[in-house]
Amino acid sequence: MSRASDFHVLIIGGGATGAALAHDLALRGFRVTLVERGEVTSGTTGRHHGLLHSGARYAVRDPESARECIEENFILRRIAPDSFELNDGLFVAITEEDEAYLEPFLEGCETCGIPTQVLTREQALQMEPNLNPKVRVAVRVPDGTMDAMRLPLRFLATALSNGAVVRPFTEVVDLLRRNGTVYGARVRNHITGREEDLLADVVVNAAGPWAGRIAAMAGVDVPVRPSPGVLVAVEGRWTNMVINRLHPAGDGDIIVPQRGLSIIGTTSWVVEDPDHLDVPPDHVRRMFEKGAEMVPAVGHARLWAAWSAARPLVGSREASTGRELSRTFKCFDHASEGVEGFVTIVGGKATTARAMAETTADVVCRKVGVSAPCRTREVTLLPHTAYYDLLTTQGF
Ligand SMILES: Cc1cc2nc3c(=O)[nH]c(=O)nc-3n(C[C@H](O)[C@H](O)[C@H](O)COP(=O)(O)OP(=O)(O)OC[C@H]3O[C@@H](n4cnc5c(N)ncnc54)[C@H](O)[C@@H]3O)c2cc1C
Repeated sequence: MSRASDFHVLIIGGGATGAALAHDLALRGFRVTLVERGEVTSGTTGRHHGLLHSGARYAVRDPESARECIEENFILRRIAPDSFELNDGLFVAITEEDEAYLEPFLEGCETCGIPTQVLTREQALQMEPNLNPKVRVAVRVPDGTMDAMRLPLRFLATALSNGAVVRPFTEVVDLLRRNGTVYGARVRNHITGREEDLLADVVVNAAGPWAGRIAAMAGVDVPVRPSPGVLVAVEGRWTNMVINRLHPAGDGDIIVPQRGLSIIGTTSWVVEDPDHLDVPPDHVRRMFEKGAEMVPAVGHARLWAAWSAARPLVGSREASTGRELSRTFKCFDHASEGVEGFVTIVGGKATTARAMAETTADVVCRKVGVSAPCRTREVTLLPHTAYYDLLTTQGF
């Protein structure tokens, strides 16, 4: 059996997925280099709501993703203490139609192992006085608030402490290929302007919504659908819990309290190029309108910021809005298409990045004949503040 330290793995992408993978592979003993074209977390990861999903949002229509979320939610609380506000979430029914969704919602949560507590209107309003007084019923679930950037920094800090190399502002401009094998990447350092070749035994494409572009450099196709959504931050922390609408996932049906702000999200459409994302004004308006149906005060709160980010969803090009696509993830070993040395991981959520990394690292181990079990369920992550300290020791 080979030793992990005999192999060098190059990870493309410094979002949640690449960060968790660098941690997993470094713990298993691999030599790891992660390259990121901008600052780490500058892709989709640094721009999400900051919701630690319980999975309840997906429990009825996307149970695979719901199970992944609840399992990872509990693991992350253990391995990343103090990274989350354990504020829970409420799914609120405002209309009769919402109330009719209660039964399938509770059934779905039970099937997926998501704990629930049904609350009367009075109980819900006592917990969250700014809820719409028309609320009919609410369900409490173990959602939480996280800082979108700090959790990946904790994965990266721990990876650095275990010997991984992290190179921000380093863009892959091409993959190195010989006889059907990817053996590294040509990278451009955006600080020095210099290009060089980085050699690797396995290259992992963790480029999120850009994964299709990286895969094309290897001559393979990955079914990734960049699916943007608009997020709106308003001044004021109008609730302490995460508020969700009790209905099938739709526009403007999540409000996440983040420090003194409230983040309202989101919309969903599909694009070809994740580098060109609009913030359509009608989407911003819709966030205010839909958010106000759950918490009226957000409807006239002052706009702090509005932005968009693209989900890296796995699915067919026929998808029209992205809502119909699962939030689960998929790992592709491109050996099945005749390309050796190259693996892609796409889809999922920031909440499920650790699980995505575990699956991908298992694939890497199988490819190179290494037996090294995953340890990321147990190892406590270093604090996010260790990241820049440790990076400095590498010369950045
Ligand atoms: C609007 C919105 C709200 C969301 N809210 C939540 C939420 O509340 N909770 C949750 O759990 N999930 C949420 N998600 C999903 C979550 O944000 C994503 O699933 C996750 O961040 C994807 O991480 P990633 O690492 O796969 O991709 P990314 O974070 O996009 O990372 C890929 C990285 O690859 C880099 N890259 C691209 N090309 C190259 C290259 N050539 N060379 C080097 N680097 C390259 C990019 O710069 C980028 O940093 C949300 C998504 C959206 C769009």
